[in-house]
Parts: sequence; C-alpha cells; structure tokens
Amino acid sequence: MELAELKAKIAEIVQSALQESDSVSDLDLFNRWKARYLGRKSAFRDLFALLGQMSATDKPEAGHALNEARIQLENRAEALESLIKASAKPKAQKEFLDVTLPGRVPQLGRKHPLRQVAEEVIDVLAGMGFDVALGPDIETDYYNFEALNTPPHHPARDMQDTFYLEGGLLLRTQTSAVQIRYMEKHRPPIKIVAPGRVYRCDSDVTHSPMFTQIEGLLVDRRITFGDLKGVLEAFLRQLYTEDTPVRFRPSYFPFTEPSAEVDIGCQICHGSGCRVCSGTGWLEVLGSGMVHPQVLRNVNIDPEEYTGFAFGMGVERLAMLRFGIHDIRIFFENDMRVLEQF
Ligand SMILES: [Zn+2]
Repeated sequence: MELAELKAKIAEIVQSALQESDSVSDLDLFNRWKARYLGRKSAFRDLFALLGQMSATDKPEAGHALNEARIQLENRAEALESLIKASAKPKAQKEFLDVTLPGRVPQLGRKHPLRQVAEEVIDVLAGMGFDVALGPDIETDYYNFEALNTPPHHPARDMQDTFYLEGGLLLRTQTSAVQIRYMEKHRPPIKIVAPGRVYRCDSDVTHSPMFTQIEGLLVDRRITFGDLKGVLEAFLRQLYTEDTPVRFRPSYFPFTEPSAEVDIGCQICHGSGCRVCSGTGWLEVLGSGMVHPQVLRNVNIDPEEYTGFAFGMGVERLAMLRFGIHDIRIFFENDMRVLEQF
C-alpha cells in the first residue's frame, strides 16, 4: 500500500470518528463509538496490520501517522467520557420526572368526633341567633360557684368533684361560669352559647376528668318556661330529626329554678327499649332551667324586669350516642385507627 493511500484512509477514519462523536450523548453510545474506532476489531486497528506490507522507507512515517491519529482519537474518547459521566447524574434525575404521572395527594386530616358534634350544636344555636361566648379554664371560686348561687357550704358542691389550684383558683367544673362573666359586661337581651372544656375529679367509662360542655343562656323581658321548652324542642329537633320525641323531667340545679332535665326518644331503639337507653326508650341529653333570680341579682340584672333560661349539655355524651361509642376515654386516646373512622 502506498503511503498516500494509507494517510487518506487514516484521515477518512478520523473524520468520521470525530463527526460521529458529536452525537454520542450517553455512556452506552460512547462505548459503542469507542469499540468502533479504537476497539480491537476496529477499522483503525486493521490499518496497523497493513504496516507490515509497507516498504521500509515508508514504514516510519506510516507508523507515525497512525500513532498521531490514535492519540487524537484517544484524547477525544477521554474528553467525551468525562463529559458524559459529569452529566449522567442530572440526566438520570430528569428521566425520573414523568409529567404524565398523577400527582401525590397530600394526606388530609379529619375533624375529631367531639369537634364535629360541638360544631353541629353551635351551628344550630347560631342559626337561632345565639352568639358564641368564651371564658377561662382556670376560674375563681366566685365565678364557678358563688355567683351561680352555690355558696361554700351548699350541698350541691358535692355533686361536682373539683380540682382546686393554689391561690383560691380552680379548674372550672362547668361552663356556667361564662354566664356570669358575660352578664357582668352585657345588658339584656342576652343570647349566648358557651362551649368549652370543664374538669372534674372523676374517671370511668362514662366520665372523664376533662370533658366538653356547651351551655346556652337567654335573658330578656317576659321570658317564660314556655320559651325554654319551645327553644329546646326546636333545637333538639334540628340536631336530630323533625319527629324526635322530647320530654322534660323536673330536676335540680342551684343556679336555675325551676330546673328540668331534657330527654329525647332513644335514637337506637326508637322507644322500644335497648341497652343504650337502659330499656327506658329515652336518652337524657340536656340540663336546663329558668335562671335563678339570685344569679341575676349577682350581676345587677333586676329579676323583676328580666327573666331567662339556661341549658347545658355534654359534648362527649352526644358524640357517644351519635357514634355508638361506649367508652368516653376513646375520645382522648387519639388512636389513629379510631379517629380515621370519622
Ligand atoms: Zn333505646
């Protein structure tokens, strides 16, 4: 083979190798490219085999030309390889981004069953014109007992096992304390609903040391027991069903006179008697009564001019009836397996 012919072949191979290298974009393509031009079976290697057929005078120059071309291709291969490896990582990440995949749905929280029931009760009362009023969990003896017509030696204090704190303070045993605070600052007409946590030293399957009460208070001119009955019947029938039976039983609370406990027809057996209603067909859901004249006098409202009624309910009890839960402690254990059912 003539030297000129060999040089032309070398140039041809180098040119096509460089040209093809422009489209080498990943490691796989690179390895194939390298095998084709620098591998043991490459056209380039075949040219080395031709060296033996060259004349002695042409051999050195031919060898030199082949070596130069080999170095040129090896340099190109090295540059190409490091370029591909440097961009391999971000490329791999890009390939993971499949925009047609559905997005990840964030896990949504749920309202705690007590909150669900409390919001329902407040919604119904707010719809009847009651404003929400709040008070502190830590109270004085005055607001929790005395102003509510329960002086220190009153036997009714035994009905509530109180958590006493230092300095004459206590954890409120009833949201009724809010009534006093509100009536001190507002004149009738008063129409409030007071939701909140209350505390009593008591714990079993139906009693928790901390539980939730919602209390209502309405004070205005010429408010009678008939208003109490009408409002509570309307409230309970909105909360349950339009045909829910409602009955009033005489009861006693120090801050109302007269007082009544309110029952609804059992929602489970509809009156025929079951385990939940202890066979009576009725469920007690509310305590209520006409505001005691002394309570009104305590906040400088004249009981000759104004009358009113108050009512209260335990949110846990309503929720237990609603969801068929038999142990009050379930509400406070925050077991996700339970909470996720609501
Ligand atoms: Zn029943």
